[in-house]
Amino acid sequence: MRYEARRLLVDGIEITVTFKPIKSLRLLVKPTGSVLASVPVRTSRAEVLRFLKPRIGWVKAQLRRLDVLENRPAALASGERHQLWGRWYELEVVEGKPKVRVLGERIVLAMPTGATLAQRQKTMEKWYRERFLQEIEAIRPQLQRQVGREAAQVAVRWMKTRWGSCNVRTGRINLNLELVKRERRFLRATFTHELCHLIAPGHGQLFQAQMDRCCPEWRMLRKQSRSVQIGQSFWG
Ligand SMILES: [Zn+2]
Repeated sequence: MRYEARRLLVDGIEITVTFKPIKSLRLLVKPTGSVLASVPVRTSRAEVLRFLKPRIGWVKAQLRRLDVLENRPAALASGERHQLWGRWYELEVVEGKPKVRVLGERIVLAMPTGATLAQRQKTMEKWYRERFLQEIEAIRPQLQRQVGREAAQVAVRWMKTRWGSCNVRTGRINLNLELVKRERRFLRATFTHELCHLIAPGHGQLFQAQMDRCCPEWRMLRKQSRSVQIGQSFWG
């Protein structure tokens, strides 16, 4: 038979709580890094939290020993730090209809109770995409004028190995969603770089002359970009 299970976030750790016909509460950290709690059938949420909170230190120690805490992707939980246009914000997750807002130094993510990590990611990613597209539309006319070429289409997608790409035949430019985490000038430089490929397909003298003309700081930005490691996914 299957027991009722719920996901709880405690101090940034996702815990699967399963309600079973048992007498006492149990907590287990699996070698895979998943954290499981078994609790008696009619235990209230408050009781579960009272049981889990003092034990989170122990859970984190186990996870650290398993090396999953440092290397794990973002859990999108309150207290985490996330970037937008080169600035760090503290994430606050609240209950409500899916929505993301920036309030001062915080990014506030509203999600219905029981939302999964995948649902939180989807909401946040959609919001990041909107920020990104808004910025592109704002800078696109000026950059295209400067370069003297127009992109037929600009798309945003997450890419593991490159900041942007340009199909010189179709005029389609792809920009890496990852750029939304960095200062806006990296997006400008990347966009300019791809637009310049519409004049010069390779990275030879003609291309470099165009970059010098349109984005004088491109060599310095390129050096900085090369030192950045893109993670396994948008979430690290
Ligand atoms: Zn290039």
